[in-house]
Order: sequence, then structure tokens, then C-alpha cells
Amino acid sequence: MAINLENYKSIRAELGDKVVLVAVSKTKPVEDIKALYDQGQRDFGENYVQELADKQPQLPVDIRWHYIGHLQSNKVKYIVGFVHLIHGVDSFKLLKEINKQAQKQNRVINCLLQVYIAQEETKFGLDETELDVLLDELNKNPLQNITINGLMGMASFTDDLNKVRMEFRQLKRLYDMLKTKLPQISILSMGMSADYKIAVEEGSTLVRIGSLLFGERK
Ligand SMILES: *Cc1c(COP(=O)(O)O)cnc(C)c1O
Repeated sequence: MAINLENYKSIRAELGDKVVLVAVSKTKPVEDIKALYDQGQRDFGENYVQELADKQPQLPVDIRWHYIGHLQSNKVKYIVGFVHLIHGVDSFKLLKEINKQAQKQNRVINCLLQVYIAQEETKFGLDETELDVLLDELNKNPLQNITINGLMGMASFTDDLNKVRMEFRQLKRLYDMLKTKLPQISILSMGMSADYKIAVEEGSTLVRIGSLLFGERK
């Protein structure tokens, strides 16, 4: 079997029921997803719209699909009918488009705002000021078919674990601040294969793990 059952079981046991495990299956075949599903896993994450739209109809309908990639406005329509949570929202324009497409499907879509915490130029996301601006816009123009459920972030890709920890701590601080304005939020999506332990120590409520479960990607 291509999936790593030993890792799956130990990570599940380690996370318990306080932290949600999203199994990141991008680039992996539907057979591997089904194998993990048969072990009881229900939350899966994908990064590419086309790939997700292809896989979804081939797999059980009770899978909760997490879109964790960077979503372009013109592609929202392909996933809005079934997606469970969109993690990477980083503009009001995108939120408006999700709202518009969700309305057509008579759905309310759960969204996380992506915050930029890594000291690298390549990562998407909002800085603290942009987050405030977006929340102001949302306050002035409420959207009925989306809900903001929390924040998502990615730490720097580095061996400097202390740096990673400080970045997660910064995201948790923003999350706590946001919670004073939006008490209903409950999801802080941070942590991947290399850094999920640190993320959990720093307050993550949801980790996105790929390679530890499905093996390295090509
Ligand atoms: C690919 C990806 C993951 C999973 O990465 P692994 O290192 O394989 O665990 C998590 N989050 C995002 C946003 C990703 O793109």
C-alpha cells in the first residue's frame, strides 16, 4: 500500500480529538485517498482546482474537501458546489466571488483568511494591516453566503525551528485578536509534515499533513 498507516495511526493518536487532521492528497491517486478513507479519515486537502474537481466525483460523498491552495476567482465555480472549507482566502474580491457562486448553489461556504507569516517573499496571504482592511470591508458589505471560520498560515521553509515557532506564535496572536471581534471563529489552520508538532504546541486547531501520510511528492 502506498499510504503510511503507521504514521497515520501515530499522528491521529497524537492529535487526539482537539486538533483536526487534514490529509493533503495533492498529486496522489484516488486509490490512496480511498485507502485512508477506509481507515476512517474524512478530511482531505487539495491544492489544484482541476485535480480536486476530477477526484471528487470518484470518491465517497461524505469526504470533507479542504481547498488549501491559492484560489483564483475564475475557478471558484468549479469547487463551490461541494467544498467544505476554503483555507487560502486573501482578498475581498475573492470572498465576493465565493459568495456570488455560493448563492447560485444555495450554499454557505466556510472560509479561512490566509495570513502571511513567513519571512519569505513567495508565500501568499494578508499582512496584519490588510487583514484589518478586509475585515472592515466585510463589516460594511456583509456577505450572506460565506462565513469566516478563522485563519490559515504557512511558516517559513527552514531548519530554524525557533523561527518557525515565532511565526506560528504571531499567527496565534492575530487569531486571538480576531476572536475578540468575531467570537464565532474556531479554526486556526497551521502546521504541515515538517512543523505540525510545533504548530500544535503554539495553538493550532487544524494541521494539513501530506508527505508523512502519502509519501514524498515528485
Ligand atoms: C502541500 C501542502 C501541505 C502539505 O505539505 P506536506 O509537507 O506534504 O505535509 C500543507 N499545506 C499546504 C498549503 C500545502 O500546499
